[in-house]
Amino acid sequence: MSAEDFRRTGHKIIDWIADYFQNIEQFPVLSQVEPNWLKDNLPKTAPEDGEDFQAILADVDKLILPSVTNWNHPNFHGLFSTSTSAAGIFGELLSAAFDQKAMLWRTSPASTELEEVVTDWLRQMMNLDAGFKGIIYDTASVSTLHAIAAAREGLNLKVRENGMSGREDLPLLRVYTSEQAHSSIEKAVLLLGLGQKGLRKIETDALFRMRPEKLREAIEEDKQNGFIPFCVVATVGTTSTTSIDPIEAIVPVCEENAMWLHVDAAYAGSAAIVPELQSCLKGCERADSVVTNPHKWLFTPFDLSVLYCRHLDLLKRAFSLVPEYLKTNETVANQMDYGIQLGRRFRSLKLWFVIRYFGRNGLIERIREHCRLAKLLASWIEESDDWELLAPVPFALVCFRACPKDISDLDALNEKLMNDLNASGKAYISHTKLNDKFTLRLSIGNIRVEEKHIETVWNLLNENLSLAKSQKLNDN
Ligand code: PLP
Repeated sequence: MSAEDFRRTGHKIIDWIADYFQNIEQFPVLSQVEPNWLKDNLPKTAPEDGEDFQAILADVDKLILPSVTNWNHPNFHGLFSTSTSAAGIFGELLSAAFDQKAMLWRTSPASTELEEVVTDWLRQMMNLDAGFKGIIYDTASVSTLHAIAAAREGLNLKVRENGMSGREDLPLLRVYTSEQAHSSIEKAVLLLGLGQKGLRKIETDALFRMRPEKLREAIEEDKQNGFIPFCVVATVGTTSTTSIDPIEAIVPVCEENAMWLHVDAAYAGSAAIVPELQSCLKGCERADSVVTNPHKWLFTPFDLSVLYCRHLDLLKRAFSLVPEYLKTNETVANQMDYGIQLGRRFRSLKLWFVIRYFGRNGLIERIREHCRLAKLLASWIEESDDWELLAPVPFALVCFRACPKDISDLDALNEKLMNDLNASGKAYISHTKLNDKFTLRLSIGNIRVEEKHIETVWNLLNENLSLAKSQKLNDN
């Protein structure tokens, strides 16, 4: 593509994106297409000859846009509401242009060194101590996998050399996490060959937090059985409710048993940049690793997860493998040594853009506002006889359900309220189960969300509830 064509098409694409954001509220939040609609409308084979970008962009409008779920819509409140930002998009664009494969320092000094600098900025913003060094992976799932691999390497059981299968000298190795922990912990354990038996889920209290005394009991029992407890994964901001495990009470249990403590703050780590929320990471000064996802709540386009680790030496010991063709004589950190991938994307660029564009204060302001909106919604729920909160609201996620006195099957009612709202295209919320109750989850984290958007969902939910109540009256 000539420079002139590149410029012309590039301007068109930037215009397209600007219009998309400007009109975002006109699109349904959840894509309204049926399964296979896109596949059925695309050619079965690749074009023989190159096509004009005009035609390609026309198909973006006709085929791709309707098949997109609009995470950038301010009424996207499902799962964890996350959104990109202009600054992040520009970072991603430049990163694609540079196309760095940061394996060795020399194959990308910029990516290698900017990653160190920008993760250190974020560390300071989160008030984590300087003992933590940051390394960027794609997702929290992968960050946690690497943390547990480093923890296992620290056992000096020669797993790197001898593997785990067929070894009579190796008892069951165990990781502990709460029953509210994210499924990525279990997946990491699976991938590391520890098996599902290698993960023990610890009971939580009435507020969905890991019970440290149960953790202690479990570890004691496992030690008596000859198992090797080696890692605890605590969560700050669990997926279902954003509950916070009591890190300060978990730390001594880990220290007494010489176990690695990994803290999954994939969601809530970003909140720690807000001074009044900083205490959510209290205790991490004695943790071994912490993961946080700027792609969740720091307006950074997916994907970018940061693993903060005190023992990069162990990570390196677990993963470093340098074939002849990658040997160099510089005394520098080579990013390929700290994980499973050889080449790594230049992800730090977009986070650098985001932090510089918003500044610490701009980011704090937005996260603080999201938390205010969540508390506001929680207050409306508390004031209403028809609704109840099902979990505390420490950050910007509200767990609740409709509980009108005249309807008995509340699970069915709430599921219908959620499905009807989502089918309307006007908003998207998701659900979880808490104490066996079908629970609505409304997450607030979009860069465009304002109070009026929360009012909209609240009004829609109440309208749907009124309909359900009158339907019930008619049925009776
Ligand atoms: N940990 C927690 C607490 C999460 O809520 C999530 C996702 O929502 C993850 C880990 C996994 O995140 P990722 O998609 O970056 O792997």
